[in-house]
Amino acid sequence: MAEEEKFRTLREKMVEKQLVERGIENPRVLDAMRRIPRHEFVAPDLSHLAYRDSPLPIGEDQTISQPYIVAVMTQLLYLSGHERVLEIGTGSGYQTAVLCELAAQVYSLERYPRLAERAANILSRLGYENLEIHVGDGSQGLPDMAPFDAIIVTAAAPALPGPLRSQLRPDGGRMILPIGDEKNQYLELVTRQNNRWEIEQMVPVRFVPLVGRYGFQEHEPHTKPDDDSTAFV
Ligand code: SAM
Repeated sequence: MAEEEKFRTLREKMVEKQLVERGIENPRVLDAMRRIPRHEFVAPDLSHLAYRDSPLPIGEDQTISQPYIVAVMTQLLYLSGHERVLEIGTGSGYQTAVLCELAAQVYSLERYPRLAERAANILSRLGYENLEIHVGDGSQGLPDMAPFDAIIVTAAAPALPGPLRSQLRPDGGRMILPIGDEKNQYLELVTRQNNRWEIEQMVPVRFVPLVGRYGFQEHEPHTKPDDDSTAFV
């Protein structure tokens, strides 16, 4: 119990210092991140670091994203509760939990079966039911379940993957994703109006690569993010 209280205090501090003070103002996003036990999504020996202002390793050379970046990306989707959302890159499942709190139904795709299984177990233990986790190449999206009101990609693509573009709802669907090379990327916000896709460049970030048919190729060298000022995720 004392342990849970300690995590609750750390979580409050994370929300105030890392999110509110940096301009995150959507109350639904802030409330969700105040509630979700982020420490449950990392290995037990890292749980004391779970509320830090940084990404953390989750195995398979992948990371749970920095809380601030989770909040920025989620806020830009303007979810009101009725949406069907596609997430590419389940990773730890933490971002999935945030989406489950804010949307009606979440479809999440992960490339590594081990990560997908682990995330599914944690999310089920925490009581989330409005989600499906799929294993596969997320750069191709999930055509059978399209269109989506919102798409969030939590790994960096060299360019906007065509299948994701076309799986966005034609009347106002929104997608947020990092685009760039493996070292320099920007979060881009894509808004679809029929056959027009408006693209806005947001903040500089540094994500692990989206590896797949419409992402980086498997054989390309993948550098791991290091500790510079844009190494968010
Ligand atoms: N949102 C996650 C979280 O909160 O823990 C962090 C995701 S991590 C930065 C990026 C994830 O994208 C990794 O788990 C990686 O395996 C996954 N990934 C990379 N390429 C992918 C692809 N083509 N399809 C599905 N997942 C992919």
